[in-house]
Amino acid sequence: MQKEFLELDGAIGGGQVLRSALSLSMVSGRPFRIVNIRARRSRPGLLRQHLTAVLAAAEVCGAEVEGAQLGSMSLSFSPGAIKAGDYSFSIGTAGSCTLVLQTLLPALLRAPDNSRLRISGGTHNPSAPPSDFLQHAWLPLLRRMGAQLELSLLRHGFAPAGGGQLELHVQPGQLQPLYLEERGAVLDQQARCLLAGVPGHVGARELERLAKRLKLPDEALHFVHLPQEHGPGNVLLLEVRCEQLTEVFAAFGQPRVRAEQVADQVAKQARDWLGGESAVAEHLADQLLLPLALAGGGSFTTPRRTAHLDSNIQVIEAFLPVRIHCKNLAPERVQVSLRTESPPIST
Ligand code: ATP
Repeated sequence: MQKEFLELDGAIGGGQVLRSALSLSMVSGRPFRIVNIRARRSRPGLLRQHLTAVLAAAEVCGAEVEGAQLGSMSLSFSPGAIKAGDYSFSIGTAGSCTLVLQTLLPALLRAPDNSRLRISGGTHNPSAPPSDFLQHAWLPLLRRMGAQLELSLLRHGFAPAGGGQLELHVQPGQLQPLYLEERGAVLDQQARCLLAGVPGHVGARELERLAKRLKLPDEALHFVHLPQEHGPGNVLLLEVRCEQLTEVFAAFGQPRVRAEQVADQVAKQARDWLGGESAVAEHLADQLLLPLALAGGGSFTTPRRTAHLDSNIQVIEAFLPVRIHCKNLAPERVQVSLRTESPPIST
């Protein structure tokens, strides 16, 4: 019997609406149609990163797809069975590898065997999780939920040149619920400045300013000098290790943006989170929802609801028999909890 298509309006958010729909369609077996893809973005429709996610998802589960062209604002996707494999995908531009990886991971966790996934493109893009965020913040929480994963950064890739590469090894398994009410005490903070084809004094100013803003000792400041041909690229990263989890904050050096401003962006994100009591900051919050949904339960606290969190909740609730509840515990502390009435989809 043919399954009924789920109808989605992509205008409720950006690329994440499409990527979450792809992940959920693959794991639930439910086909979907989406219109108005990224309708409110300045360049609407499928960009290279989104198109790569669609084509890669189709390959992993043998899906039938209509509308998979650059610029397309509507798409239909009918998934087949998930296949384990040795996959290699190239975005072809500096589009974010990490976002494509996040799209495919739920399906690979439910594949019949181990998989290896290589993705090339950008590994450090503004408005996407840098690979360091996946390695030190997101993946450790998935491992705590039972996932067996190894991620390697084979080469850095920055916009506009791209050329980066990530490799992920995945062992299939069922995720277990995760409850993250508190982050615990801060154990350590390390700042790293990545520089590729960008003068060293830019990085020195970024680190100096960040150290001043957050009172970091010299031992916590690190330069990572990458080969010039990997650039131009400059990212300032702050890793905050707490008892219960690690958060990673990032800002990107750009032409006509002063080094001090880059540092201030990182300091602002860190202070915003450290100044409150929440377990996770806003990016981890929207990226934890899907793993919790696959696990069939869990909760976390975060400073506030964001557009990404809200649109992701809508997409998840459309595909799966789960209910996601947001409760204001304090002015800057929201508890997001997920429960399911029927058992989680098993592998
Ligand atoms: P568009 O908004 O143009 O459609 P997109 O396809 O890149 O863009 P979004 O829908 O904006 O996708 O999703 C971006 C994702 O990247 C979100 O999950 C967001 O939390 C995450 N993200 C953005 N910046 C960071 C960051 N600095 N650290 C971690 N995650 C980030």
